[in-house]
Amino acid sequence: MSFSSFSLNPKLVDALPASVLKPSEIQKQAIPKIIQGQDVMALAQTGSGKTYAFGLPILHSMSQKPIQKLSQKLLALVIVPTRELATQVAGDLSRVGADLDLRVEVVCGGEDTELQIERLSTPANLIVATPGRLLALVNQGAVDFAALEHLVLDEADRLLDMGFIADIKSLIALMPTRQTLLFSATMPEPLLQFTQQILARDAIRLE
Ligand code: AMP
Repeated sequence: MSFSSFSLNPKLVDALPASVLKPSEIQKQAIPKIIQGQDVMALAQTGSGKTYAFGLPILHSMSQKPIQKLSQKLLALVIVPTRELATQVAGDLSRVGADLDLRVEVVCGGEDTELQIERLSTPANLIVATPGRLLALVNQGAVDFAALEHLVLDEADRLLDMGFIADIKSLIALMPTRQTLLFSATMPEPLLQFTQQILARDAIRLE
């Protein structure tokens, strides 16, 4: 099986690094379901290829939009536990989506808030964020969820361990109906309960 066998925009497949030849197990299972628009919960470790598993179908969906729908609208949000992961995920997705004319931004704590607000005055199409700072910026009106279509919670067990679930609940309460994707290395009971609250009833579970 190759990446060309998914119905992904060829610009995305062509932009994959040379070392990424064949889809990993999680990519094989998740990409078709996410393209179909289903909610997905996946048990996936770092190194499994989870970033492309959610990133490729989301970037594909964004690339199918007429330009006026895309322009200056936040369509996808990836919530991660740490600044390091945010930088890594945003870098991977920016590189693979380089030919799509999308704006990708990172929103993390520890950076100058005024500078972030300034950068977001032209809204990004995709934001990779840690929860606390994102919530602060939303409350200040610097980020608008009205057009949001895809939400990813990456490394959800670490988001739970780091005490971010309350912030994430506050963020989700402000979002329209959207596709929700949750990736986690482990699935402790409190996370499973939270997952059941936020994913559609017919969500696909992959392990
Ligand atoms: P992730 O699990 O998303 O953190 O990815 C871990 C690493 O695996 C990254 O450096 C990716 O570039 C790489 N990778 C992702 N998918 C594949 C693949 N299908 N084949 C080889 N390497 C991959």
